[in-house]
Amino acid sequence: MEVVHISAECYPVAKAGGLGDVVGALPKYQNKAGITSKVVMPMYRTPFLYNSDWVVDYKAKAYMGGWEFEYTIIKEAHNKLGFDLYLVDIAGLLDRQKIYGYSDDTARFTAFQIAVVHWMSHWSHRPTAVHCHDYHAGLIPFMMQHCYDYNHLKSVPTVLTIHNAQYQGWMPWSQSMLIPKWDLSKKGLLDWDNCINPLAAAIKCASKITTVSPSYMQELMHHANGLETLIASEKNKCVGILNGIDHEVWNPATDCYLIEHFSVKTVTAGKQQNKQNICDQFGLDATKPLFVFIGRLVGEKAADVLPGALHKAIQTYREKASYMILGSGDPAVEAALTNLAMANSNCIKVSIGYNESLSHQLYAAADFLLMPSRVEPCGLNQLYAMRYGTVPMVRSTGGLQDTVIDMGDTGGYGIRFTHANETDIVHAVGRAIDVFENKTHLLWMRERMMQINHSWEQTVQSYTNVYKSL
Ligand code: ADP
Repeated sequence: MEVVHISAECYPVAKAGGLGDVVGALPKYQNKAGITSKVVMPMYRTPFLYNSDWVVDYKAKAYMGGWEFEYTIIKEAHNKLGFDLYLVDIAGLLDRQKIYGYSDDTARFTAFQIAVVHWMSHWSHRPTAVHCHDYHAGLIPFMMQHCYDYNHLKSVPTVLTIHNAQYQGWMPWSQSMLIPKWDLSKKGLLDWDNCINPLAAAIKCASKITTVSPSYMQELMHHANGLETLIASEKNKCVGILNGIDHEVWNPATDCYLIEHFSVKTVTAGKQQNKQNICDQFGLDATKPLFVFIGRLVGEKAADVLPGALHKAIQTYREKASYMILGSGDPAVEAALTNLAMANSNCIKVSIGYNESLSHQLYAAADFLLMPSRVEPCGLNQLYAMRYGTVPMVRSTGGLQDTVIDMGDTGGYGIRFTHANETDIVHAVGRAIDVFENKTHLLWMRERMMQINHSWEQTVQSYTNVYKSL
């Protein structure tokens, strides 16, 4: 079995969020399970590129509209990630430092997809499945089936995994000429709401669709940023598969970013040392419970509610807790959090930006991880937190409700609440402060959650079943 993953992100090559984590881990564990699994992604100019050895695999020219461009496929030489990794270089479009956020992202990802399909159409064999991730690879199932030049790939099954349906890659119809010559009678497959919608096109054309948790699959039938009816009408080819975590990367006993390693047996002392280190760095009191938020400061994560909620929590519980935020996103939220931290510098600190190393240290140092998300397709942060003995405090939605049991329920080890609002968050902080004072219960919860198996091995089997069904 040979599976080709196509994605905009892959850790540690380039990561902006959970998509990168998944595409960096799933293929590794698929190869361990005997599936030949490869990753193809754009060749951004990130440190991984310069710190690895590469061989040129293929070079050719293709067209995007009237523009003929040259692309180069390079392959990582030593299989250092545990799978074959291919990068696609297109001068002027993909040779940038960041993954997203450029005004020409539509052209960038369209050219990337054209190059990938063009390259695969020249292979002498056909893979078992082409596995597309999110909208950046969403035009690929359509192109494989309905672009005249890629007939060689017409019968190859495709899988779409939806990591996040909020972003769909909308293109006006005036850009339809960017897609290589296609069967115009299939226009309806590209269209949603009078524009070209790559995510919708993939939902229509892919042989199977997966989401990154079972609950998210159900949610998408009701809230999918305009695609609800489409997803509901395709539900027979949809399946929700919960993400795993890479326990080789996310392991408090070996994590190279931590100053002190720990295991279930040494969790209390190990976490306290990591917490002391963070508190010393940032000027917080390590004897108090430490609440952490890590993530994109956007509406999906309910980051807009955080400044008000944390302000109220500080007022309500006075000197009883410390708070630390790591993230970036909406400038208004960044500013509100920064102001809150300046006004309450003894108990709250904010680090604006993306910092992989600090994120690991915070999962290890924190007592509680706050995730009030409005939308959470799977959520990896709560899984990492649990592996590091940090109690997740989550809104009951998507993958959060699939993975966290409230401490008030039998066997529960987390804190759940219903609404992404100040009242629910402040109440949840109060419950957390109470449990922090009950050391026996806290230790029991930590030990319990650290032993939960969220490894990729079991998830790999679910994906294998999907490929076998094609
Ligand atoms: P998303 O919706 O952003 O993909 P996930 O929970 O699926 O959310 O994955 C988030 C991933 O990104 C986690 O690995 C988390 O640690 C990481 N992350 C998010 N923001 C930051 C940041 N500012 N610095 C470092 N890592 C971050």
